Amino acid sequence: MRKPVIAGNWKLNKTIAEAKALTTELVAGLADVTDIEIIIAPVFTALSPVADLLKGSPLQLAAQNCYPQETGAFTGEVSPLMLKDAGCQAVIIGHSERRQLLKESNELINQKIKKTLAADLKVIFCIGETLEEREKDLTLDILTTQVKGGLLGLAPEQMTDVIIAYEPVWAIGTGRTASNEQAQEAHSFIRGLLLGLFDQATADACRILYGGSVKPANVDGLMAQDDIDGALVGGASLKAADFCRIVKFE
Ligand code: PEP
Repeated sequence: MRKPVIAGNWKLNKTIAEAKALTTELVAGLADVTDIEIIIAPVFTALSPVADLLKGSPLQLAAQNCYPQETGAFTGEVSPLMLKDAGCQAVIIGHSERRQLLKESNELINQKIKKTLAADLKVIFCIGETLEEREKDLTLDILTTQVKGGLLGLAPEQMTDVIIAYEPVWAIGTGRTASNEQAQEAHSFIRGLLLGLFDQATADACRILYGGSVKPANVDGLMAQDDIDGALVGGASLKAADFCRIVKFE
């Protein structure tokens, strides 16, 4: 019922030439995939050259961040409209690296989500607890605050363009993946939150991705869980063979 999504977050990696080389490999390796939504998120400087290579392919392009203003005196920032102009179909918002390193608040994330949706772009909205929060048994509280804060004021129909990525911070870039059961438990809880905030149809239709050290060796077990609708992949998305295998999960 929910079309799976596999998204690659390239983070702060790859020059334009390297991004183009990886994109060329992915386009060749994934040209025949129609049943999975595939999204790649290079750095800002590579977006437009990568967009040119994606024309005519099933792959979509995402940015890793945006600023919640269209134009103006916001030195160093990039707006959703400009990302659309560069060829993006989506924006990753609220990644834990930005929440932690750049102190992004739920309120700022909510503004970014609204501006991105207003520009007719999809949102990959990231949430997840730190190790300390999990050990203090605060996981569900944190997820509740992040989901409610990030989605504040959205109408159910806007949720069609929101993909949620549950990424436990302790599993990102650490090689330590949540177990299939831990991930399923969190995803099912998040779907329950959507039911409370919106309605049954919205909760049932929303794609919830798992992120945190997803690789070819663990993707199949994760994707077998009822409420896991895809993956947001960091490190393994930088290698064409690994990312293609993840997209072709079994
Ligand atoms: C991410 O950057 O969103 C991520 C999940 O990274 P990794 O797959 O490397 O843990």
